[in-house]
Amino acid sequence: MKISALFISLLLIVAVIISCGKEQPTSPQATTPEVTTSFGQGTGDPAVLAKLHAINDQLEAQGLDIRVEAIEFFTIGGGRPSARIHQQPFRWVPNDGRRAAQGEDITYLIDDENETTASGLSAAQTRNAINTAMDTWNNDKALKKVDLVKRPTAGGIDHTIFDSFFGFGGYGEWWHADIVNAGWWPRAYFEAVGGPGGGRGILAFSVTFTFTGTDANGDNYSDTALNEVYYNDTFGDPGDDRAGNPWGIDIALPGIDVETVGLHENGHSLELGHFGPPPDAVMNPVYAGPRHTPFPIDQAGMNAVWSSWPNP
Ligand SMILES: [Zn+2]
Repeated sequence: MKISALFISLLLIVAVIISCGKEQPTSPQATTPEVTTSFGQGTGDPAVLAKLHAINDQLEAQGLDIRVEAIEFFTIGGGRPSARIHQQPFRWVPNDGRRAAQGEDITYLIDDENETTASGLSAAQTRNAINTAMDTWNNDKALKKVDLVKRPTAGGIDHTIFDSFFGFGGYGEWWHADIVNAGWWPRAYFEAVGGPGGGRGILAFSVTFTFTGTDANGDNYSDTALNEVYYNDTFGDPGDDRAGNPWGIDIALPGIDVETVGLHENGHSLELGHFGPPPDAVMNPVYAGPRHTPFPIDQAGMNAVWSSWPNP
């Protein structure tokens, strides 16, 4: 992004904050004209889909220009269906001023809240594992046309929004990075999002928001606004029935390896869906032990998404 454009974006953010007072913040630029695109029907657990539609009704009522589009659950044991508002996928748009894009790069941050785990991992341990996972994708051949750039967390800023719709936090400033790894959250949050049993079955989930009804670059995909990744702190909590499945570093089953889950979840952030099993893949929806290197099917998926970047 040119300096002048960045400056204008910053001015707009300041203007929005000033004009909104204590109201919820909107995106940096909310004036992009809408383009009507046609999509199929949503898919997934009807109860989860209903929650996502209710969230979107709230966002619309507040005049905000983003909508939740998809949520993908990574589970241990029995899987859970992904929930998608539309059957059509979504794509990041290069140089997208609406999300304060860093040119043709994709940015991520690791929220400095909720970085430790009940299983005893330090913030540095979980952060290093997630950074390693991001480096793996960044160095992958399929992503050679895009750089994944880490942004620092700005101390004291709430970087997440999905939690706010379930009463677990406020509606934060989502635009500081495209992808936010939001850290480890309580069982009740996963129960609220995924439904009964979600709290002890869901290791982590990725949730993606898109801009309302727009296709700014004419690629026939809805335009991704932001992605958030939440990890479940139930696992390894000494007081919980998942105490026997602790989060760890390079840990074998029945432990849960942070880097493996980070690689899977940020695969969603980079717009991969689930594959199989079979075949084996980082993007299998059910956890199967440490996997630190993408499989051929993962590579094929990434190629499909990123080979033409930054052109539609
Ligand atoms: Zn997944």
